[in-house]
Amino acid sequence: MAKVKTHYEDCDILVVGGGMAGTGAAFEARHWGRDLKIICAEKANIDRSGAVAQGLYAINCYMGMQWDENQPEDHVRYARNDLMGLVREDLGYDMARHVDSTVHMFDDWGLPMMKNEKTGRYLREGKWQIMIHGESYKPIVAEAAKKSADKIYNRIMITHLLMDESKENRVGGAVGFNMRTGDYYVFRAKTVIVAAGGASHIFKPRAVGEGMGRTWYAPWSNGSAYALPIAVGAKMTQMENRIVLCRFKDGYGPVGAYFLHLKTYTQNANGENYEKKWYEHTKKLVGEYIDHHPVPTCLRNHAFIQEVAAGGGPIQMVTKEAFQDPHLETVGWENFLGMTVGQAVVWASQNIDPKYTNPELTTSEPYVMGSHATCSGAWVSGPEDLSPPEYFWGYNRMLTVEGLFGAGDTVGGSAHKFSSGSFTEGRLAAKAAVKYIQDQKAEGINVTDKQCEDFKETIYKPLENYTVGRNEITGGTVSPSYILPIQGLQRLQKIMDEYVGGITSNYMTNENMLKRGLELLEWLQEDLENVGAEDYHQLMRAWELKHRALTSQCVTEHTLYRKETRWPGYYYRGDHLKLDDENWHCLTVSRRDPKTGKFTLEKVPVYHIVDEKEKKQAS
Ligand SMILES: Cc1cc2nc3c(=O)[nH]c(=O)nc-3n(C[C@H](O)[C@H](O)[C@H](O)COP(=O)(O)OP(=O)(O)OC[C@H]3O[C@@H](n4cnc5c(N)ncnc54)[C@H](O)[C@@H]3O)c2cc1C
Repeated sequence: MAKVKTHYEDCDILVVGGGMAGTGAAFEARHWGRDLKIICAEKANIDRSGAVAQGLYAINCYMGMQWDENQPEDHVRYARNDLMGLVREDLGYDMARHVDSTVHMFDDWGLPMMKNEKTGRYLREGKWQIMIHGESYKPIVAEAAKKSADKIYNRIMITHLLMDESKENRVGGAVGFNMRTGDYYVFRAKTVIVAAGGASHIFKPRAVGEGMGRTWYAPWSNGSAYALPIAVGAKMTQMENRIVLCRFKDGYGPVGAYFLHLKTYTQNANGENYEKKWYEHTKKLVGEYIDHHPVPTCLRNHAFIQEVAAGGGPIQMVTKEAFQDPHLETVGWENFLGMTVGQAVVWASQNIDPKYTNPELTTSEPYVMGSHATCSGAWVSGPEDLSPPEYFWGYNRMLTVEGLFGAGDTVGGSAHKFSSGSFTEGRLAAKAAVKYIQDQKAEGINVTDKQCEDFKETIYKPLENYTVGRNEITGGTVSPSYILPIQGLQRLQKIMDEYVGGITSNYMTNENMLKRGLELLEWLQEDLENVGAEDYHQLMRAWELKHRALTSQCVTEHTLYRKETRWPGYYYRGDHLKLDDENWHCLTVSRRDPKTGKFTLEKVPVYHIVDEKEKKQAS
């Protein structure tokens, strides 16, 4: 260990991850904390990091309050409906009431926004989405963060949170390493905002073999946002609420602009509207939820999955009609060029011109995230003016560990934030973190050198494992004493896929499967003590894998706990196939004891704040 150089940085606010939420946090922290020291540590380079790295073609969350297009209440109702009733309405409302101001800043900063020629307003793709020329979306928000933070550290992977040794359950910073130089970094911080994105590659992806690495969600989103807080005993919520996406086959290309703007539609192999066929069947499982408008995303997936299982595939997107219009044809292609070039390449390689061939769709492997259309993530305090007592403990977006805040994919219970809402939530978390410091809540934090040295040894152990273990073999990659990150990743994906409701079992699982999955995950994590890394890049892979494994364990525990099928189309509990509002109209909250590694779970009520407010006003 002596060979590894250590850098110390003391700061007021440490932002972990400089994606959408992290850049929003760095920007807003400077606004409220003029004299505070603000640092951001990012695994990649914030100019092109996170889920928005390649750009986007639409901002998916914009109210348009100034023109009375939508109000925050409408968005809460929309998210609640899409998530089959289960969201944190305080968090959703809080994000929605601020999101327009975020989008207006993006406009001021030079993000090219499309305008409706007739009205002069932002061009709508759908009720919530506005269209942008968003190839440079990420560099634009990164610039705001760079101008705001004291320092941005690129290429640093944060592996562990530091804890205060003078007060229980209070954060003291974070540690990680630079994957180019291998140097060790200790950030002693008064507050930490975790904004490290969602989790892909925990379930076996459809794209294997020559397609390996291709996923819908960003392949570098490795669940650090969950593993970091879980490891220190922060509570998590709705981790069972993974998402499955209906996307263009093999390239995972987006369908939003196609459905909403191009007005394309789906059909089965016989040219039929298959969704109608599954109405009665779905009604038996979920009751009146199938009659909601818009039909919840999971239920549309459900019809797709059932139709394919019944032999009606392949399911196609009917593009041949829309693409006869040269304008719509251009929009269709530009949509990919702005955010998923790979789909255009796949079509070229498979001889698909959507003007003449209706391309195939598929349902993806599951992902875990808190900012898109599902709400897995940390259990956080809501805002003072909206949250009921069970949802409020002093500082907006603070986790159940003091001084530890979250935003974007990190935060559970508040779906449909997307890029603009994640940036907004970063702003909200940063404002609260500044207040926490100004209220003198972060005084006297003590992080000993021993804590930092112990982590240093732990972090670099995979290099040690490899250096020693490779002497036992003369060739190949299979060693008796270490496991390589890719081998561990594939083992993790196989367990999650087969036991926790991935593509192989057609998203089906049950209590026995989940219990067996947990057993296998425990043994995997034991073996990961022996993961070997041949260089710093592989060291990053090793830690990404460990974070994915812990996230997966939490997902599995939650899936076991909720004894119903709340979201058919995302996963099925074969032993509890129906939605059960009587027993499960609640949020699930877990905590892993950092000392024993054991999870405990509880039910927490869902408060329908928006309509309660209206009912009270009416009476
Ligand atoms: C395919 C796809 C399409 C989407 N389409 C749209 C759309 O059309 N419109 C829209 O508005 N939104 C869209 N979104 C959603 C939007 O991208 C996300 O909601 C948003 O990026 C989430 O913000 P975040 O900050 O939580 O995560 P991210 O933006 O992903 O940022 C996480 C950051 O943390 C860093 N990081 C991760 N682990 C560590 C670690 N251990 N240490 C240090 N840094 C770390 C990552 O490198 C990354 O920079 C889409 C997302 C995807 C993946």
